[in-house]
Amino acid sequence: RSKRRGRGQITVYSREIAQEMKRATQLEQALRNAIITDNVDVHFQPIVSLADNRVLGFEALARWNDPDLGFVSPAIFVPLAEERGFIDMLSETLLRKAAEATLAWPRELFLSFNLSSAQLMDPRTASNTLSILSAVGFDPRRLELEITETAVMTSADTARRIINDLRQAGIRISLDDFGTGQSSLGRLRDFIFDKVKIDRAFVSAISTDRTSEHIIKAIVTMCEGLDLEVVAEGIETASEAEKLRRLGCGMGQGYYFGRPADAAATLRYLDTHHHEFALVERASA
Ligand code: C2E
Ligand code: MG
Ligand code: MG
Ligand code: MG
Repeated sequence: RSKRRGRGQITVYSREIAQEMKRATQLEQALRNAIITDNVDVHFQPIVSLADNRVLGFEALARWNDPDLGFVSPAIFVPLAEERGFIDMLSETLLRKAAEATLAWPRELFLSFNLSSAQLMDPRTASNTLSILSAVGFDPRRLELEITETAVMTSADTARRIINDLRQAGIRISLDDFGTGQSSLGRLRDFIFDKVKIDRAFVSAISTDRTSEHIIKAIVTMCEGLDLEVVAEGIETASEAEKLRRLGCGMGQGYYFGRPADAAATLRYLDTHHHEFALVERASA
């Protein structure tokens, strides 16, 4: 009867799950090892003022190039570290590296760092973050932490307390990927954010789709009223940059201004682009 087929299905199903789990565990081992041996790196992508294309700061982005596995995306290994319970170890290593690299930049530039949602459920996050900054000698007022909406939703009270402690120390908070997921405008009324990052999905649609333009315009207007700064993510062309500037968006980030690059390349980028990016890019556009 169907018993036989049923059992067969279960066998196939569980074999797939077993393989998946084995792969995840191998990835976990490799990642833990990479952290310990200092083989997880951090790259930096410029965030500019759209009015004059001046560099204002950089977002730190985790990079892991494994000798056996090759390049693994942070969209894979960050969630894995969350699930397997060592995101704090990964994140602390990355923050330390990012803050150390930032010390070599002009002092007016900020560092933007992604905090994972799991960290916003861990009451130790604020004090851990502050002790890393103090160990590195990094002024907390130069740091922005990017968090997503879901992070605040899932553990509202703990998250709020952590965010308050961080802001108390002068750290600014950005709402990342705004407009995606379960965004709610109501969240912005909580006054726990300093900045909103408009998701790349709206920016890449801006040339072909009037709706995105209207949405961006509405976000910009709303943020003005709420005294929030606005960054548009994923700007890839001069015309996107120009449109966003005209819509009143204050800041931009994307391949057009610079791809994520390692600490050494970032210093070279600053040498050539700091203060004069506008002239360089407009001339070649
Ligand atoms: P995110 O924080 O929204 O970062 C922006 C992502 O968009 C980055 O991908 C960046 O490389 C990419 N990007 C930037 N400009 C452009 C563009 O013009 N076009 C396109 N197509 N893409 C662009 P990445 O580095 O692969 O990171 C993916 C996600 O992984 C990040 O999204 C963030 O959620 C997470 N992540 C990365 N580094 C860290 C980290 O150190 N800690 C934590 N917790 N999460 C991280
Ligand atoms: Mg981000
Ligand atoms: Mg983002
Ligand atoms: Mg994103």
